[in-house]
This record gives sequence, structure tokens and C-alpha cells, in this order.
Amino acid sequence: MNLLKIKLIKALFKASWFPIIPQFAMLTVFVLLIIGGLGVTTDDPVLAGWLRDTNLSNLIVWSYWWPIIIIAAIVFGRLWCTVCPVELITYWASRIGLRLKVPHLLKSGWIVTIFYTLIWIIGVHTLAINRIPHQMALYLLFLMILAIDISLIFHKRAFCSYVCPVGHLLGLYALISPFEWRADDPSICKSCKTKDCVVKKNHYRLIRRSCTSNLYPATINDNRDCLLCSQCLKTCPYENIRFSARRPFADFFTGVNLRPAEVGFILLVGAFVVFEILSEWSVSFEIMMWLPYLFTDAIGITGTLANFVSATIMFVVVPILVLLVVAALAKLASGRKAAPFGMTVKTFALLLLPTIAGAHIIKSILKMSSRVPYWRSALIDPKGIETAQKIAAGTLVPDKSVTDTLTPAVGFTSAAVLLIALTVTMLILRRSVVVRKNSLGVKIILLLGVLAYWAIFGLTIFKWRFG
Ligand code: SF4
Ligand code: SF4
Repeated sequence: MNLLKIKLIKALFKASWFPIIPQFAMLTVFVLLIIGGLGVTTDDPVLAGWLRDTNLSNLIVWSYWWPIIIIAAIVFGRLWCTVCPVELITYWASRIGLRLKVPHLLKSGWIVTIFYTLIWIIGVHTLAINRIPHQMALYLLFLMILAIDISLIFHKRAFCSYVCPVGHLLGLYALISPFEWRADDPSICKSCKTKDCVVKKNHYRLIRRSCTSNLYPATINDNRDCLLCSQCLKTCPYENIRFSARRPFADFFTGVNLRPAEVGFILLVGAFVVFEILSEWSVSFEIMMWLPYLFTDAIGITGTLANFVSATIMFVVVPILVLLVVAALAKLASGRKAAPFGMTVKTFALLLLPTIAGAHIIKSILKMSSRVPYWRSALIDPKGIETAQKIAAGTLVPDKSVTDTLTPAVGFTSAAVLLIALTVTMLILRRSVVVRKNSLGVKIILLLGVLAYWAIFGLTIFKWRFG
């Protein structure tokens, strides 16, 4: 069903003020969030733990904005990118910039993978951008400045296409979405003489721009790169675009070809999600941290350096080892005709994605529901320092009654999401064009690998919430 046949939706996407006005609105919110975080800091790790939830900006950014855009990407595609204020800023910057061609290294995707790794290892686990509001504000400012710099140098949406880790992650989750943005009738595109949706002369128009995400609607095969910005619909003289409902996970069953850097990115996200879920429960947290603590204790480091080394072990060393073990076993299992390494790891990453997305949804729900008690005090004291001090001193106890009421529903939703992820993975394993290219032996190894990964969440959620 083409949603653009619904008058209201079509009018929205065709409107010349869309998405510019929402982008301006988001830019205002973005600036307010930065202002609300700047200067709010502490050296006390206990206070930082509370400040994370008591500062209004921090509460909104990490406990609501981030979870909501993750869920929105899984349901609708890159909906956040449609209204993202950074896209608007990069548009203006690239309009006046040098407009150089993007080098191959940037296009390869490894830069964004490395950038995302650094955000987690240095940003989150060393500088605590997720706990200290001041660091969060600097991080958002840094992203904006980086986006402007990249856009002043390179042409089109270079930052969105090759550098932004948010967009990259949302693009991968958009593969799951039950909606797709495509050319309605590719034969019309074929016979179209003007090609308004791709021509260079339209690249820097504010409205009715040609696609600066390097897409030609007639050949879009999957949801990874489309920002749903609606510019191609506005510029097409035939309005030959559809935004239609489809089978969820549809892209997994066709020949979606992950880039090598995306495999690395998926493994990283997979490790981050393990960390996020397992750190919600003290028992699973201790099990997860056993190896990193063993190592940091053995070499005698503490504090920030120990955090950095632990994060490197969890997010880089362990995923690489897991990947190598799976690839080695797949090679052994493939018999005389050895499975190509690239094909094995791409298939493995693709099969992991539903479980990773499911775990991310669970984490998002857990986070949003567990932070409800902090809204009241954050609205009264937006900086959150006094509230954090009172909570740390025990003179203020957040009212957790809403969270407690939600707990059973959260538990059942988490279990349901995990079971759906497992069922879909089995279907992909049976029917996906990509998986079918692998031999039976390889498929068995990949199945065991994915089951082992799924079991990390399955055991944690079922034991923690229902045990
Ligand atoms: S890719 Fe990043 S900067 Fe671009 S629109 Fe999406 S979130 Fe915004
Ligand atoms: S294909 Fe159309 S909607 Fe998608 S990013 Fe390009 S111009 Fe925007």
C-alpha cells in the first residue's frame, strides 16, 4: 500500500516547509539541550551516576531521544534523519563549501565504524558523555562542528552518508522497517529525460533538491541510505515515488549486500548492546566484567585508563575474536570447498542484526520506563545538581511507583521482542538469498553462533525478570 495515496501524508511530504520547519524546531531543541548541559559537571562518580538522570538535558538526550529514534528507525526507517537539524546545517555548509569529491577511504565506511568505536571507548567509557551533562553538551557541539567542517570540504551530504554514526546505525535498523521509499514505476524513471531527482544542477536547492545521498529512486534496493527527506518526491515531475508498507524485515530476504565496514559496525553495536543490557542487572554485569577486570587487575591499572582498556577489550577484542572463531569453524565445516571469509562474516552479521535490534528495543524500553521517576524533579531543577546531591545524601527518594507498575509489562514485552527476533532469524536462515549461498555446514555454524549470541540476552532477560 502506497501511503502517499493518503492525501494528508502526501501533502506533508510535498509541502515546501517540510522538513525545513521541523528541522529548525529540532535545531532549537538541540541548542537548548546543549545549553542545559553546559557547565553541569562533577568529579564525584556517585554524583555523576545521579546527575545522568537528574539533569533535564541529559535525561532527554540519553533516556528518551536516543531510545525513541532507535525504535522509530526500526518501525519507520530513518525518520529521525528526516527532521535532523544537523542535516540542515550540513546543507548550508556544503552550499558555500569547497564541494570536493569524497575520498574512497571515507566512502568505504571504515571511518564511521572507527568513529563510532571511539565514541564508545573514549566518549562513553572514558569521558562519560552519557553520565556528565557537560560532556554530553560538548559531544553534541563537537558533532555539529565536525558536520560543518566535513560539509565545508566535501560535496553533497558527505557527513550524513559517510561520517554520522547515528545515521549509519539507523540505516541498518531501517532494513527491518515495514515501510520503504522507492520509485513507484521504474519504467517511468527509465524514460524520464530530465532526471530531476539526480541531476547535479539541483543538488544545492533548498527545496526540490535532487538526492544528495547518492540515490536514484529507481534503483534503491534497501532502506540503508534513504533519509526520507522527500526531496525526490518534490522534484519529480511525475511524482513517481511511493512510500509503501511491506513485509517487516523484507530487505533481509533479498540480496542485501553488507559492506565490510558495516560488518565491523554491526559487531561493535552487538557488543555495545550486550554491555547495555547486561549492565542493567548486577549479576550479569559482574559476569560480563570478569575478563576486563581480570586483565586490568593483572596489569595493575585503575581509573580512567582501566575504563579505556576494559572498553577496548569488550568492544574491539572480544567481537574480533568471536568473528574469527565463527569464520574458522565455518571454514572447517564447509569441507573441501572452503567458504569465502567475506561471505561468511557478512551472513553472520546479517543474522545477528534482528537480535541486536531486539536487544536495543529492550534496552530502550527499560531505559525509558526506569527514568520516569526523574521527570518531576528534572522539570523543577533542570540543572539537576541539587537534586543529585539530595538523592546521593538520601534526603530525596525518587518515586518509583510508575516504574514498578510498568515492570511486569516491560518484562513480558522484552521476552516477546526476543522471541520475535529469534523466530525472524530462523526464517532468514531458511529463506534469505544471502544465507542460501552458504553450504549446510556453514549454515549450521552460523546458526549456533547466532543462538549463542541470542542466549546471552535470552538467559539474562528470562532469569532476571522471571527467575
Ligand atoms: S545521517 Fe546523521 S546528521 Fe545526517 S540526518 Fe541522519 S542523524 Fe542527522
Ligand atoms: S531517495 Fe529521495 S527521500 Fe531518499 S534521501 Fe534521496 S532525495 Fe531523500
